[in-house]
Amino acid sequence: MNLLSIVVPCFNEEETVEIFLKEIQKVMGDSPFEIIFINDGSSDDTLRKIKNLANTTSSVKYISFSRNFGKESAIYAGLKNATGDLICVMDADLQHPPSLLPEMIEAITDEGYDVAAARRTTRKGESKIKSFFSRLFYKLFNRISEMNLVEGATDYRVMTRQVVDSILELTEFNRFSKGLFQWVGFNTKWIPYENIERVAGKTTWSFWGLVKYSIEGIVAFTTAPLSVSTLLGTIISVIAFIYMIIIIARYLLYSDPVQGFATIMCTILLLGGIQLLSIGVLGKYLEKTYVETKNRPIFIVKETNIDDK
Ligand code: UDP
Ligand code: MG
Repeated sequence: MNLLSIVVPCFNEEETVEIFLKEIQKVMGDSPFEIIFINDGSSDDTLRKIKNLANTTSSVKYISFSRNFGKESAIYAGLKNATGDLICVMDADLQHPPSLLPEMIEAITDEGYDVAAARRTTRKGESKIKSFFSRLFYKLFNRISEMNLVEGATDYRVMTRQVVDSILELTEFNRFSKGLFQWVGFNTKWIPYENIERVAGKTTWSFWGLVKYSIEGIVAFTTAPLSVSTLLGTIISVIAFIYMIIIIARYLLYSDPVQGFATIMCTILLLGGIQLLSIGVLGKYLEKTYVETKNRPIFIVKETNIDDK
């Protein structure tokens, strides 16, 4: 029987980790599994709670970071330390229903898929604005990048060893998991489920956090924004050229005195704006390149109960 490793990033999840373990134990029954809790620099009692669980349950492993490195880093650390034949990534707050696990595992072991991933079909309990922008993001991302992110795709998935090894080969610092999971390819079965609210605690994602995350995702997976300035520049040059000919013609044909303070102001401001915007876009890519070239570790471990492999 296949060992299942469950990777669980935890940031301030003191209220949920215990409930989480109980639920998993219920669903898994006698099937072999290990849970790897990654304490992502929680400021509450999460680490102590996890350690208690590890002391009483041998299938519980933990890795505790030296500070908050973000969910993406936590997932990377978990995947790296997972020993199972099948590996699952799952949130600690039970928004990713463990009851889907048997179906996901079956999709791989019986139906021959490499990945079984959960897809939210509803966005119940989420604000209208958030859903709207999130839809907009998927449309935009899929249009300008060569990838095809499935709408409502979550990080909740079970993968084969082979898929995980491929993901681990992507050692970039800017980790947009949704994109990385998609990028490596393989056959994925999407399993739909209805959105559920957290069992306890609260989400750490603010609206602006999500906007920033979206921009990171776009910068990490497409250079299309860089081409936008070239396109804008071309269009404006063509318009300027036509306008120039019109002015010369008007002068030659009608001896129209050249006037137009407003035109000049508008042109200067428009061009200035576009130039600054383009520099900003360029800067964003440069920033990412800069961060990548530093080659810093994706996470730093402070303590763990996993022996070095
Ligand atoms: N998380 C993390 N590091 C962070 C933020 C979140 O490890 O910096 C974890 C969190 O503990 C949870 C999962 O990522 O297990 C999803 O977070 P959350 O429920 O806050 O996000 P949402 O479900 O609202 O997208
Ligand atoms: Mg959540």
